[in-house]
Amino acid sequence: MSNTVFQLMQELEHEQIVICNDPHSKLKAIIAIHNTTLGPALGGTRMWNYVSDDDAMIDALRLSRGMTYKAAISGLNLGGGKAVIIGDPSLKSEALWRRYGKFVNSLNGKYITAEDVNTSASDMEYIHLETKHVTGIPEYMGGSGDPSPFTAYGVFVGMKACAKKHYGTDDLQGKRVLVQGVGHVGQYLVGHLVEAGAQVYITDINETRIKETTDKFKVEFIAPERMLDVDLDIYAPCALGATINDDSMQKLRCPIIAGAANNQLAIEKVHGAQLIEKGILYAPDFLINAGGLVNVAAEAGGAYNREKVTKDVEKIYDRILDIFALSENEKITTQEAAIRIAQKRIDDVAHVKSRL
Ligand code: NAD
Repeated sequence: MSNTVFQLMQELEHEQIVICNDPHSKLKAIIAIHNTTLGPALGGTRMWNYVSDDDAMIDALRLSRGMTYKAAISGLNLGGGKAVIIGDPSLKSEALWRRYGKFVNSLNGKYITAEDVNTSASDMEYIHLETKHVTGIPEYMGGSGDPSPFTAYGVFVGMKACAKKHYGTDDLQGKRVLVQGVGHVGQYLVGHLVEAGAQVYITDINETRIKETTDKFKVEFIAPERMLDVDLDIYAPCALGATINDDSMQKLRCPIIAGAANNQLAIEKVHGAQLIEKGILYAPDFLINAGGLVNVAAEAGGAYNREKVTKDVEKIYDRILDIFALSENEKITTQEAAIRIAQKRIDDVAHVKSRL
């Protein structure tokens, strides 16, 4: 392992990285455990054909840190972790998932996995054959199934809070919203927005998903390279991370950014500050996209109740408004404000735990 990994771990304050290798099933995975102060590290497993192993490591490290803050700000007694599997998602197999499940099991509950990009409830079913430390398993197995509808609902609720702050009303009727990425989360989000009377544009790179979404909801498709040329009220990044970067910053004109993607800011401090300079209200990603985590956390905790989960997800509305107020009062970015609240809860609980 290179010094760079230790440097990154120290910089981002990670506890542990587990590197898993099984040539027989072609499994190459990285499990990143960021912080377990509040509880076991819960976070999904992403499968992606990374350009390099370094890219995969950086993704795992950044995503797991986000999970720590997501759980903390959502009031959950969970730590932050995330795993990435390096490889072509079309080549996933029973053997790969079961071998991966064994690696998860070897951590004895310190890390609990779930779905993420390119992984599904049926993949969790295979993992569950080898470990009980997995959530988001199908409903017919007693699980809560795909968490994406809850993530999408949380983003919708958070978007309404952004509208309330910017326009003085949370009515999204007529608002021009671009949903970038109409996958698991994006499709449900489009459904909520259409129902609320928003004028929805979508963009994606997957022809099938574009057709499914435009057929089902009669929304307008915009080519990815043109997406920020359109006059928008709200931009909802729901594909991959780092879409708020030096390039997009030149083009961004909409007053609100509120979407599901993790790690939307390419460089947190730099791009967070530039958004403030441009007068763009940014809903911190790990706060607005916490609905799915709230759902799988309820499943992991037992006694799952869908109505209670829905009410808990709706708390995102007030949390977003609180963060905007803190950001304004303290003259810090909204991302910094959210991290401050999350870190305070972690520090407070660590203090409590250090006493008899
Ligand atoms: P997904 O893989 O189902 O969907 C992602 C979509 O984005 C796909 O349709 C893909 O074709 C599209 N896409 C990829 N690159 C693109 C590009 N350059 N331009 C336009 N579209 C592009 O993933 P998902 O589960 O819907 O998650 C979306 C995002 O939300 C991810 O960043 C994920 O980490 C985050 N997130 C998801 C959940 C959840 O519950 N699924 C929870 C929290 C955060």
